[in-house]
Amino acid sequence: MQENALWQAVLGQIELGVSRGNYMTWFKNTQLIKSKDGVVVIGVPNVFVKNQLERKFDDLISKTLSENGVKANRIDYKIHTGISPLVKFDDDVLKNPGTPGPTTSTPAPRSTDAMHRVYRLGLNERYSFENFVVGGGNELAYAACQAIVKKPGDKYNPLFIYGGVGIGKTHLIQAVGNAVLAAKPNSKVVYTSSEQFVREFVDALRKKNTTDFARFHRGADVLIVDDVQFFAGKEKVQEEFFHTFNNLYQANKQIIMSSDKPPKDIPTLEERLRSRFSQGMTIDMQNPDFETRCAILHSKTLSQNIELPQEVAEFLASRFQSNVRELEGSLNQVLAYCDMRGLEPSLQTVSNMFDSSRGRPKHLSARQIIERTAKYFHISIEEILGPKRDKDIVVPRQVAMYMLRSELHLSFPKIAHELGRKDHTTAIHSIDKIEKELSYETPIKQHVTDLRGKLYA
Ligand code: ADP
Ligand code: MG
Repeated sequence: MQENALWQAVLGQIELGVSRGNYMTWFKNTQLIKSKDGVVVIGVPNVFVKNQLERKFDDLISKTLSENGVKANRIDYKIHTGISPLVKFDDDVLKNPGTPGPTTSTPAPRSTDAMHRVYRLGLNERYSFENFVVGGGNELAYAACQAIVKKPGDKYNPLFIYGGVGIGKTHLIQAVGNAVLAAKPNSKVVYTSSEQFVREFVDALRKKNTTDFARFHRGADVLIVDDVQFFAGKEKVQEEFFHTFNNLYQANKQIIMSSDKPPKDIPTLEERLRSRFSQGMTIDMQNPDFETRCAILHSKTLSQNIELPQEVAEFLASRFQSNVRELEGSLNQVLAYCDMRGLEPSLQTVSNMFDSSRGRPKHLSARQIIERTAKYFHISIEEILGPKRDKDIVVPRQVAMYMLRSELHLSFPKIAHELGRKDHTTAIHSIDKIEKELSYETPIKQHVTDLRGKLYA
């Protein structure tokens, strides 16, 4: 594919000009999604990379693109985990990345080749068993997933894995999909999130095209649905999923689901689904234990050819206990910090970076928090303090209020005042709203985690 070749050329050039650490951390998992009329869209794996590229490497990317014949007036960075760079996709899919073909208004692809390309979408090759570190906390889930790869649809069906945010559920269930495909390239593996399922179903309803939608999911050999807790309260979708589930189950096809809580605790889930979800194997996945967290850090650095001293790994593993995503974030922070200053990641350096209490310096003023929040979201301080009610501004404002509450424990009237608001109920509602978002894995949650890291970086 042309764009792919172009991007490989750009990356090749960038690789020569930046340090290895920088390249591996910020550029390796990027791709060119689109380049048209001077607007270039680059897919990045997470918001952390997005921010870094925007802030630090925008000029370099733009210059390198231009050296390769692309004049970019604007570069957009789009978080884009769904598509592996190795997949070839047709234009339709490109226009609508992450969306399997049959739910668009075009008829289901006919050739098996095209069909399999579509079925492969949604899986990210970054998630493999090889780079998943097994240990206390995740070994049971890992073993069940391995068994499924050997014989899908056989023993653990459905498999229901639940556990907290950022502990490796998505990684593991995606690894199953990738491994099944590696063993049997013709398998039809569908990976979707419950949110995507909902979105596409609603879309299909609107276009009166639910047959294709149903056929696509019911045609899977392995159906993987991430974060099924979001089915809660959506009756029509639950009904559709119920039929999909039954079809697949009766045909001995494998179903894998993940959730942040066990089926019995998902509110407003229809009883019949609840019992379906629990009828196979249900596994409570835990955050990896200390040794496993250290091993994860080593495996991440080894794959980048960086040697991480054991004492540094232990320092980070004991400081960032609650989930692997945060742990990884802290490691990336360390690597970037050392890289920019030409330092080795020694215990001295790393403990200087993180203060003894929860990894942050003690003093940060309300004003600093607001400024850094605005900067993080790329809006101005005037905008965050001003009257505008656009979504792009309201959300950062709400996050800033939440941060003032969670970091400085300010009172609601004080928070309102800091944000130039007279009425303190705004602060109450805003903080309440963000707190609700944080109980699930939402983009806002990701922002709050990233921003918190940045506040004290
Ligand atoms: P969840 O879906 O449970 O919220 P993810 O699967 O998205 O969590 O994991 C968060 C991050 O941590 C991912 O980048 C993932 O690759 C990494 N990760 C989690 N567990 C492990 C593990 N055991 N070994 C290697 N990486 C892991
Ligand atoms: Mg997940």
